[in-house]
Amino acid sequence: MKPLKLDHVGIAVEKIDASLPVWEGIMGIALNGVEEVAEQKVRTAFLPVGGTEIELLESTDPEGPIGKFIAARGQGIQHLAFRVENIDEALAELKAKGVRLIDEQPRYGAGGARIAFLHTKSTGCVLIELCERKKS
Ligand code: ZN
Repeated sequence: MKPLKLDHVGIAVEKIDASLPVWEGIMGIALNGVEEVAEQKVRTAFLPVGGTEIELLESTDPEGPIGKFIAARGQGIQHLAFRVENIDEALAELKAKGVRLIDEQPRYGAGGARIAFLHTKSTGCVLIELCERKKS
């Protein structure tokens, strides 16, 4: 597998609005939009910077992945997402190498991207997302 780029850094936050002063105010990165991803039980805010993005993740349900993350570990960096050309091929290759996958099949994330998470047991406790975006 050859990741194309670091697509985004996912940061779990209690409230997007309360976090924007850090990213917009201190860091000077403009908010590009907010989207709810019902399946993931999150609201997602995008702040593009230098060909990658900061992705703020606010839970909409305490039982969702971000709600559980914040309950266990508090706010902070939650995942790194790498863009790949073909996510089906990447997952097949990783599976053949014995890498544990959270998502055996890609699902749809924010912005219509096809995404899949690798299991932290196989990645040194770093939650890694693969992400394939439609060519525009
Ligand atoms: Zn992500």
